Amino acid sequence: MEATPSPYEEAVPETPAAVGDELDPERIIRAQFARARAHLQHIEPGLVDFLRLPRRSITVNVPIEMDDGSVRNFVGHRVLHNRVLGPGKGGIRYHPAVSLAEVSALAALMTWKCALVRVPFGGAKGGVTCDTKELSEGELRRLTRRYIAELGDNIGPNTDIPAPDLYTDAQTMAWIFDTYDNMHPGRNNLPVVTGKPLDLGGSEGRDEATARGAVYCTERFLALAGLPHLPDIHGARVIIQGFGEVGRVAARLFRDKGARILAVSDSRGGIMASNDDSLDPQQVSAHKAREGTVVGLPGSRSITNEDLLGLECDILFPAAIGGQIHSRNAERIRASLVVEGANRPVTPEADDLLHGAGIPVIPDILANAGGVTVSYFEWVQNNEHHNWSLEEINGRLREQMVAATDRVVARWRGFPADCADAGLSADLRTAALVETLERLARVTLQRGIWP
Ligand code: NAD
Repeated sequence: MEATPSPYEEAVPETPAAVGDELDPERIIRAQFARARAHLQHIEPGLVDFLRLPRRSITVNVPIEMDDGSVRNFVGHRVLHNRVLGPGKGGIRYHPAVSLAEVSALAALMTWKCALVRVPFGGAKGGVTCDTKELSEGELRRLTRRYIAELGDNIGPNTDIPAPDLYTDAQTMAWIFDTYDNMHPGRNNLPVVTGKPLDLGGSEGRDEATARGAVYCTERFLALAGLPHLPDIHGARVIIQGFGEVGRVAARLFRDKGARILAVSDSRGGIMASNDDSLDPQQVSAHKAREGTVVGLPGSRSITNEDLLGLECDILFPAAIGGQIHSRNAERIRASLVVEGANRPVTPEADDLLHGAGIPVIPDILANAGGVTVSYFEWVQNNEHHNWSLEEINGRLREQMVAATDRVVARWRGFPADCADAGLSADLRTAALVETLERLARVTLQRGIWP
C-alpha cells in the first residue's frame, strides 16, 4: 500500500550542504536549552541535567512476517522525556531516517510544548525505522501491532500516550488502540492514543487545531506586542511556506480575518498573487487537489521557495519542514513577524539574525501547540465517555492559546535591557523556554526528588 503522506512531513531533517550540521535536531535542541538555561542560573545543575535528558529510552526489535512469507526485522524506539506534569505525550513516526537521537530530541520538544500551553502531559516520541512506501497495508498493520506489543506497558492511558506523526495516521492510531485494547481487555482504553478516527473516539476540530491555534496566538501577540504598522491581522500581508494540513487551514483562517495572502508554496514551488492582491485560499486548495501542487494556479505568478521567503510581508508563516530559515537566508527575510507553524523551521543561528534585525519569531512550542492541546481534549473526552461540540473545542483552544501567549509575552518583556551585553538571548523562543523550564523545575521540587 502507498501510505497516506502524513501531516508531519516536516520533521525529516533536511540537510542542505550549505548549512551543514546547523539543522541537526539534537544540536538545535541543545542550543535552545542552553540559551534558556543561561537565564536560570539559580537552578541546581543536577536538576538541569534531569530536565534536559530523557527519563527513559526504549529500543525494540520488531520482527514481521512479510506478504511473501519472508521475515524482516525492524527497529523501533520510544523515548519518554519527562513525566513531571503528567503522562508522556508524543507522536509515533515511521520513516527510514528514524533514529534514537532524533526521537530523543523531538521528545524534549514535546515536554516543552505541553508544559508551555499547560496541558497536563509530559513529553515523549516514538518511531520505527522503515519505509512505509515499501510496505503493504497488512505488513504495516502487523508492524504496528508487534511494535506496540513490544512496548507493552511502557505506553498506557496514564503513562505515555502516542499520536500520529510522520507517515502514521488515524488508521495507525486505530490499530494501536485495538492492539492495546486486546492486551488490556475489560477497561476503557480509548485514551491510550489520540488522533484516532472520529468514529473511534477521535475529537472534532483536531484536523484544524494546529493552524487555528497558531492564528489565535498570532492575533493575541499582535494585540499585546504593539508592532509598528501591524496592529492586528486585518489587512496584514501574509506569506505561507508549505500549503499542507497546517498551511492550507492557516491561509483560510488568516483570510477570514481580513488578511491578504500574498504568496504560498509547497515542495514543488510557490505562487504569488498578481498586483499585490490576495490569493483565494479556497481556489488554491481546489487547484492543489486537482494538480497535486499550488504551482500553475490560473492568474498567479510562479516563484521559487527561496524567493518567497525574501518577499516583503507582515507575517511570514513557515508551515512546511524544519530548517527552512537558516544562517544563509535569514538576512533576506523582510517580514515584520515570523510565526512558526512548522516544527523547527528557524535554526538558532537564524534566530539570532532575525532578533538582531528586530523581527520577532513566535516559536513552534507556542505557535503550533494547538494540535497537542486538542489531542489533550480528545484524551479528556475519552476519559469522560463524552463528546464536546466543535464550538466548545475551539473556544477552549482559544483560551489556552491566549493564556500561553500572555505568559510568553510577559516573560519576554521582563527580560532585562542589558541581556545582549550579558551574552543572553532575549528572543521570544528563549522567553517561552525560560517560562517552561522554570515551571518544570518548580514542579519537580514541589513533588520532591524520589525517594
Ligand atoms: P503536510 O505534510 O500536510 O504539509 C507540509 C507541506 O509543506 C506540503 O504542502 C509540502 O509540499 C510542503 N513542503 C515540503 N517541503 C517544502 C519546502 N522545502 N518548501 C515549501 N513547501 C514544502 O504537513 P502539516 O501537517 O501541514 O505540517 C506542517 C508542519 O507543521 C510540520 O513541521 C509539522 O511537524 C508541523 N506540525 C503539524 C501539526 C499537525 O497537527 N499537523 C502539529 C504540530 C506541528
